[in-house]
Amino acid sequence: MQSTAGSESANNGMPENGVTPWLGSQIQKVLDSIYAKYKDVDDGVVATYIPELGKADPKKFGICLATVEGEVFTAGDWDTEFTIQSMCKPFAFQLALERHGSEKTLKHVGVEPSGEAFNSIEFDQKTGRPFNPMVNAGAIAVSSLIKQKPVEAGVDAFLETMGKAAGRKLRIDESVLASETLTGNRNRAIAYMLLNSGIIDEEVHESLHQYFAQCSMLVNCRDLAMMAATMANIGNQPETGERVFDFQLIKYVMAVMFSCGLYDYAGNWAFEVGVPAKSGVSGGIFACVNRQLGVGVYSPKLDAQGNSVRGILACKELASHLGMHAFDFSNVGSSFMQWLL
Ligand code: GLU
Repeated sequence: MQSTAGSESANNGMPENGVTPWLGSQIQKVLDSIYAKYKDVDDGVVATYIPELGKADPKKFGICLATVEGEVFTAGDWDTEFTIQSMCKPFAFQLALERHGSEKTLKHVGVEPSGEAFNSIEFDQKTGRPFNPMVNAGAIAVSSLIKQKPVEAGVDAFLETMGKAAGRKLRIDESVLASETLTGNRNRAIAYMLLNSGIIDEEVHESLHQYFAQCSMLVNCRDLAMMAATMANIGNQPETGERVFDFQLIKYVMAVMFSCGLYDYAGNWAFEVGVPAKSGVSGGIFACVNRQLGVGVYSPKLDAQGNSVRGILACKELASHLGMHAFDFSNVGSSFMQWLL
């Protein structure tokens, strides 16, 4: 069953600083038209290298936009759950920075775009570090930095913080976790290479478990949009007002997402959409518009670079309708939708 589209606001009416009802209805129209325009696009293939991911319904397509004032706009299958996969990586990087500071964290992972596929077994020749936290090698190094003893405590801490950002309790999809743990030999190979060069400690199994569990966390488009809006809102959750992330470190995460967030499509994304974002092989993409909003989209069929086909189309169109591009002169700070007025 397809969920209905609609909008909601944090306090049953329009928040004082929020968009006007008229503007809200315009935004809803934009989402509805993007959904209608792309729902029948059938290109791409669902990822199957993690066998459980292959069970996703290829027809699913959801969009959610959340403003930093806590207003939410949705279209299509926005409430379908899927595993977050690589979209956990920016958040894990944020937590590593918060726990260890940037100097120590950067001893374990770089911030250079690699231009390589997400699962490449390539490291910075000079330092032996993974190129950045958005490729698997870098994310495993980050997981090693945020894991705890016992290992489930680290996974729970991650779930708890992500739940605070999403605004609801989140959980792991145990069958995806089992599937990835069973078949993740390439990631195991990467982790042992990292051990060999002293980037991670001997607790390789624990680091991998932290990483696989993070990737197996279930979210829907609304969760992604809210988590993105929390980042965009200097770390404060738009609905609860709770401080979830240290705002002084968010700029680092945004910068790495901007240059490395969309696999080997990152340059094109920065060019055309122009905002920090991250995609995952489950078919989700989330994007942050600094101080303004978060976007979450989902559709499981992927293009050759591993990005959601409908997700990319939807984000491009949304960016052009709302003037989201960071270097677009119609994007004027917090009044991003001024052109509509
Ligand atoms: N868990 C996946 C892996 O490590 C994440 C890949 C992705 O979404 O890019 O292979």
